[in-house]
Amino acid sequence: MNRLTTPRTLYSKVSPCFARIRPRRSIAPWTPKSKFSTTAQRPLMELTGFTEEQLTIRDAISAVCAKFPNTYWQECDQNERDPKEFHAALAKDGWLGIALPEELGGAGLGISEATMMMQTITQSGAGMAGAQAIHANVYATQPLAKFGTKEQLEETIPKIINGTWRTCFGVTEPNTGLETLKLKTLATKNEDKQTYSVTGQKIWITCAQVASKMILLARTTPFEEVQKSTQGLSLFCIDIDRSQSGLDMRKIKKMGGRAVDANEVFFDNYQIPANTLIGKESEGFRIILHGMNAERCLLAGEALGLGYAALERAAQYASDRVVFGRPIGQNQGIAHPLADAYMRLEAAKLATYHAARLYDAPKTDESIPFHSVGVACNSAKYLAAEAAFTACERAVLSHGGMGYAMEYDVERYLRECLVPRIAPVSREMILNYVSEKVLQLPRSY
Ligand SMILES: Cc1cc2nc3c(=O)[nH]c(=O)nc-3n(C[C@H](O)[C@H](O)[C@H](O)COP(=O)(O)OP(=O)(O)OC[C@H]3O[C@@H](n4cnc5c(N)ncnc54)[C@H](O)[C@@H]3O)c2cc1C
Repeated sequence: MNRLTTPRTLYSKVSPCFARIRPRRSIAPWTPKSKFSTTAQRPLMELTGFTEEQLTIRDAISAVCAKFPNTYWQECDQNERDPKEFHAALAKDGWLGIALPEELGGAGLGISEATMMMQTITQSGAGMAGAQAIHANVYATQPLAKFGTKEQLEETIPKIINGTWRTCFGVTEPNTGLETLKLKTLATKNEDKQTYSVTGQKIWITCAQVASKMILLARTTPFEEVQKSTQGLSLFCIDIDRSQSGLDMRKIKKMGGRAVDANEVFFDNYQIPANTLIGKESEGFRIILHGMNAERCLLAGEALGLGYAALERAAQYASDRVVFGRPIGQNQGIAHPLADAYMRLEAAKLATYHAARLYDAPKTDESIPFHSVGVACNSAKYLAAEAAFTACERAVLSHGGMGYAMEYDVERYLRECLVPRIAPVSREMILNYVSEKVLQLPRSY
């Protein structure tokens, strides 16, 4: 349920940063510019059905993103350069706290609004790189905000919202992959009871090179010693202190989103204070479960934005490019795959914002069981990722050879759109989940 109903109440009730949100204006009709322009000009997404808050956020985020054109993202991607100016611009206006509590400087809005923000970022042309530059700050802070102590929250959250600190999320390990319950990184309490020693390895940790904090999931009891597989995991909010011994990291060369770093992170008796534990020892898995459905929605939004961005570029190119004496878009071989991609995106959009709405509904609403929220959020992430992939692939093919050229951007979108299919949970695992939880088929793993 949205607790705010109009932009006016949005301005007055949320933190001061949101006073800068401008009232919604209608989008100007598309007018063709240079066919070599690198700014998308043909907004396609159907806007009916969104709340005023979502549309207001969309306009305000679009205004921030407009300062970062496609050429900015091309340059960051090609040079593997962190988009720190973009992160700073969003932090300056308070957007990183969109879904964090008002008393800590956040806006106290829901995942429905945060999803719109992430979608608007990718759709602007920033792509997954833009989203990933801030994703963990918006999402990985959620369990901290819910389960952290007053001291942890007051020390950490305001600095993450104002951009002083960036954060990353350390879950995935090289030897356990999607089998999160088997992860091996061990945090052992030292005899002084004031500190833990962390030893183990994480992989694919986005933004670890630029982050000051990591939300770390580690074992405090080895897997062999727990009665239930969900026990023995604990969540910490730790410093990434490069001057301290026992911490090392190595950047992974990757296919897309090259502006943001992804890393192997090695811990070897790395010392962390005991008061970095979030919630109780051994309850880490339960705590991160709290945020998993929210992350599915954010990723779905990010995928959608990328898909629409690609489709906008494809529709524009198909109008402009003339071969055999007519625009290529006059050929149904070009037009129909794009029309089909549009409908897939629109269907996935409905699934995504439906899931976010269920997630945001008061937990006391018994008409929305937790099971339904899980199914909706997983389904949305799957559908949006697949729709984005379809749109991005067809956008490249519609551009012919130019689809392969950096300056047309769609090759960057195609490289990036694989991420929502893989992370944070793969498409195969979502199919496993729906097979088991909805179709009630035997568990396959
Ligand atoms: C760009 C990028 C950024 C990332 N950022 C982060 C981050 O910041 N923090 C973090 O913790 N992690 C991050 N990840 C990791 C990501 O969450 C994992 O890659 C993802 O969960 C998949 O795990 P895996 O790579 O170990 O795949 P694996 O577990 O090795 O699986 C490999 C393949 O086998 C399939 N498979 C495995 N088991 C089954 C089964 N039972 N049935 C059917 N198919 C199966 C999978 O679906 C997948 O296709 C990131 C990954 C990428 C690519």
